[in-house]
Amino acid sequence: MVVEIDVADASRAADASRAPLHGWMDEVVGVPREAPLLDGAPYRFVSLDNAATTPPLKAVQQAVLDFLPWYASVHRGAGYKSRVATAAYEDARAVVTSFLGVDRGRQEVIFVKSATEGLNKVARSLAATDATVYTTIMEHHANLLPWQAHAARVRFIEVDGDGVVDEEDLEQQLRAAAPGPKLLAIAGAYNVTGYAPPIHRLAALAHRHGAEILVDAAQLVPHRIVDVRGGAPGEEIDYLVFSAHKVYAPFGVGVLVAPRHAFHGAPDVVGGGVVDLVTPDEVVWTDLPDREEAGSPNAVGAVALAMALRRLEQIGRAAVEEYEATLTAYAVDRLLAVPGLTLLGPRRERVGVLSFVLANVPHGYVAAVLGYEHGIGVRNGCFCAHRGMLHLLGVDLGATRNIQERIRGHDKSRVPGAVRASLGLYNTVADIDALADALMRVATGEVQGIYLEDARTGEYMPADWTPDYGAVLPWLSSRSPSAAR
Ligand code: PMP
Repeated sequence: MVVEIDVADASRAADASRAPLHGWMDEVVGVPREAPLLDGAPYRFVSLDNAATTPPLKAVQQAVLDFLPWYASVHRGAGYKSRVATAAYEDARAVVTSFLGVDRGRQEVIFVKSATEGLNKVARSLAATDATVYTTIMEHHANLLPWQAHAARVRFIEVDGDGVVDEEDLEQQLRAAAPGPKLLAIAGAYNVTGYAPPIHRLAALAHRHGAEILVDAAQLVPHRIVDVRGGAPGEEIDYLVFSAHKVYAPFGVGVLVAPRHAFHGAPDVVGGGVVDLVTPDEVVWTDLPDREEAGSPNAVGAVALAMALRRLEQIGRAAVEEYEATLTAYAVDRLLAVPGLTLLGPRRERVGVLSFVLANVPHGYVAAVLGYEHGIGVRNGCFCAHRGMLHLLGVDLGATRNIQERIRGHDKSRVPGAVRASLGLYNTVADIDALADALMRVATGEVQGIYLEDARTGEYMPADWTPDYGAVLPWLSSRSPSAAR
């Protein structure tokens, strides 16, 4: 069921001629949910950390429950349950294929554990070549460290102060490049700024200069229609990765789309399922995609992902895109009205990922007050994109060295960073209002609790607070290791 929200309050940002704002709250497990505040009172929990992970859709929960009685070994059993499980697993591959517009004659859809694993897989496949990878300092570490570890060369494309990629610099670098394989590895949307680069225009540019393009679509697939074919010849995306847990299916699976030629010789991970024959003197690798999916596949994860994508199609991907764009515009307006708040990244071309700093208030403190006093879940820190964050925050080399020294000494206090609120299809204008109103109070010093920073973790905690997670999950106690952290 669609949740309708009166547009009156949202009129500042929403186009008045548009239909009322809709949120798909009823599609999602665990929304709404109550959580205790600092004073122990239960309060509607506002979930604004979707860039980290998303709750499952109800359709996904149901698909998992329906599948579990049929769950059995995939590709390895002759029994009926094994055949059902194999059919479900391969159906999931077909769903992903059509969702992304993949041409299976040219590309493979490979199930991996996550976007991170997919990126590492591609990087390891490049290791045997003399490839140059072009990327930016704004990337999530998952789209940076694997290239630094395995590629022959990594070149950084210029970005402006908002982290927007300089297409002229990319073109110049590609034009001047030495012969040899070239890969442009870039986010489809950034996990700090939400900026969504023009991936198909970049694909055309890369292809004109003999390079391939990889899109880290972990933050793009949840928010925008993604079709690897692009709108015109030359605009195709060669490689793409994303994680199911950011698309409402948190059951441990990810997707790598890659050209068939990317995988040559032995797979990077070997074991069961990747061979046709092993003799004392020979190993015969099996065909793609199985060759790249060593070990027992995560059939539950694949089934969950497929249902999430099916349900997104039914809800309407264009409707979700439009709704989130309206909500994001509203959120930008409301956040910018908070005194002392600076939004990171460009105003234009962004998905609903909003990172900001409040003047003279530590990011960890802001996040803690939002969580403990207002029941709002956000994330803070550097979001696994340290180089990009230092750039956006304008941290100079001297200050960076100083931070390095302290972190080496296990002191994570006062590390620069930001607070991030990130939207999902179930968020509403009321959620944005709750965030903006709470930030207004933090900015004007209206805070109830006393918070102490733990130098080991950099986290702020209320001084006199004892967690009781056992109240919501009976098998947890306040002495559970995660609770004690
Ligand atoms: N790329 C981006 C842009 C991300 O935001 C993330 C997750 N925060 C990743 C890659 C890695 O995703 P995962 O942790 O699911 O592998």
